[in-house]
Amino acid sequence: MTFATPAANEIIASLRRAGHVLVAVHVSPDVDAIGSLLSFGRILDHLDLPYTLLSQDGVPNEASGLPGVERVRTEAGSRFDTLVALDCSQLERIGSARRNLQGMEIVNIDHHPTNTYFGIRNLVVPEALSTTQIVYRLAGAVGVPITAELATCLLAGLVGDTQGFRIPSTDRRALHDADALVAAGAELYPVSRSVFSNRPRSHLDLWGRVLSTAVCEDGLVWATIPLSVRHEAGVPDRDDAGVVNFLLGTQGTVAAALFSERRDGAVDTNLRSVPGIDVSAVADEFGGGGHRQAAGCTVNGSLEEVSDAVLSRLRRVVHGSTVRIASG
Ligand code: 5GP
Ligand code: MN
Repeated sequence: MTFATPAANEIIASLRRAGHVLVAVHVSPDVDAIGSLLSFGRILDHLDLPYTLLSQDGVPNEASGLPGVERVRTEAGSRFDTLVALDCSQLERIGSARRNLQGMEIVNIDHHPTNTYFGIRNLVVPEALSTTQIVYRLAGAVGVPITAELATCLLAGLVGDTQGFRIPSTDRRALHDADALVAAGAELYPVSRSVFSNRPRSHLDLWGRVLSTAVCEDGLVWATIPLSVRHEAGVPDRDDAGVVNFLLGTQGTVAAALFSERRDGAVDTNLRSVPGIDVSAVADEFGGGGHRQAAGCTVNGSLEEVSDAVLSRLRRVVHGSTVRIASG
């Protein structure tokens, strides 16, 4: 079970020619980003190429147990010939790595349908449920042995982005990959536990404050995180604490939104929906992107301005759709 990956051979050929490779993931990385990053490092180990693994915002709790995580840097340092961007739908998402781009070849490996094809080579596979599924196939094409450690990183990305094989697009290929990765030595329960049951205490404090202010309105649920609340709870900037997935689980809900105030006068927005409602189109209109059922954007303005604008767009999508969830 494979994907059509036309750029894979070219990418492998260009990596073989490359000098020092910078491999980087998006700001506020999730476990798919970090799992892909560590797995890509193992491909470069196999090719015997020098590389640096970069995540400007470090490693989130959900990925902190992955083997090799100590290799991840938060600053790039020296010069590079090639940038491999993983799990990034737009180049802006890569953050500080953009400073080093002069003269570099960009290889773009991603699974977001809203990807802007910003690389000189683009391996964009929207049917993949995680970027690790794409990296898995690249590893196979390069002939990298799938050790238990590599399988663990690959499985973690797939488990994270499918929310433990629960999202509606979960398909046989995802289950097939998981089976093969478990056969290679990855362990499903420890991976799932470290991805989903590794929440810092500060998230509980944030959830308590944020959930009590959530609003339910005709199939839509939303909540806001003012900066003061984030500070009281001790949750760092850009950490959404997984609140929006929980909001979507409210009975009768077809779309959920979380608005987080930022220090720089912008608001981070996380969107979720059930099949039939495309929140990536909403995020796209506000300069963001993502997947149909999980998307996001960062919009300049106050919490009230941004939530009003996004909610009015979201209301039109929800009310224009025929999707309804039985509330009985
Ligand atoms: P989350 O809500 O978990 O941060 O993101 C959901 C999905 O939307 C992820 O696939 C993520 O990469 C994407 N996403 C979140 N925020 C942004 C954004 O500001 N721009 C783009 N292009 N994608 C985003
Ligand atoms: Mn992903």
